[in-house]
Amino acid sequence: MTLAEFLSSETGMLLSGLALGAVAGSFLNVCAYRIPLGQSTVSPRSRCPQCKSSIPWFRNLPVFSWLIQGGKASCCTFRIPLRYWLVEVFVAMVFGFLFHRYSQMPSLGPFVAGCIFAWLMIAVVVVDVEHMIIPDRFSMGGAVGGVLLSMAFPSIHLLRHSSELLDRLGGGMNSLIGLLVGSASLYWIGILAEKGLKKEALGEGDVKLMGCIGAFCGWKGAIFAIFGGATLGAFILLPLMVIGRMRSNGKDDAESLAWGQEVPFGPYLALAGLLYLACIRSWVDSWFDSLILVFQRSSLG
Ligand SMILES: [Zn+2]
Repeated sequence: MTLAEFLSSETGMLLSGLALGAVAGSFLNVCAYRIPLGQSTVSPRSRCPQCKSSIPWFRNLPVFSWLIQGGKASCCTFRIPLRYWLVEVFVAMVFGFLFHRYSQMPSLGPFVAGCIFAWLMIAVVVVDVEHMIIPDRFSMGGAVGGVLLSMAFPSIHLLRHSSELLDRLGGGMNSLIGLLVGSASLYWIGILAEKGLKKEALGEGDVKLMGCIGAFCGWKGAIFAIFGGATLGAFILLPLMVIGRMRSNGKDDAESLAWGQEVPFGPYLALAGLLYLACIRSWVDSWFDSLILVFQRSSLG
């Protein structure tokens, strides 16, 4: 078996995905650290955040360096947070999954879009959890990128017409509709929630993020991301709040999550969008399709 044959086999694709994903995860950590600080993501080379000495490449291997050094920097007493390693491992696993699926179902558009979208969504989770912001580069940049990719690869929206021009227009339209449905729905939910709760419930960043999710996932994916994200948020946050309340015994505790405390919604939208595009798209789409069928039947009488 030649190297090219091995790399295109299922195992080869899985390993390539894991390796490229680890590198992409390492770059994601750099972006998540530097973009909120307004620094360049390419220069200077990687530096220790504590003593500022530059990190040689052999101490900067994704996933492995952290394990070999036991999470300790080699230059000073700095401890590299576990979070960096977890992000690298998670991106590696997602890319491994997407590459492996591509070896079974070779459709270039969904594969390329899936990898870019997954990277973007994980970056949004990391940055929003830490800084409570979603950089425009990810949300608006991703929305524009999603529309352009949809025109380049109409197969992202599962389109297969006879004419290439029609396909490209259809891909772009599907993406734009998803962008508008996603951001407009969340915008209106935000306005209604603001009226009800008498305080700002959703940020502008979340609305822009929904534009990006809709551009990649279409309108069905966008609507799923809003409701799936809210469900996911409730499942993750409610237990944390209950535990926080029990621990603090009613006293105010800065460490634990309090009722009514502001928490970012972006990470849950992003995770739900990723879940849709990477795993459960066909299931969600067919649910929407059957719903549309019911509406059509009832309107026909
Ligand atoms: Zn150092």
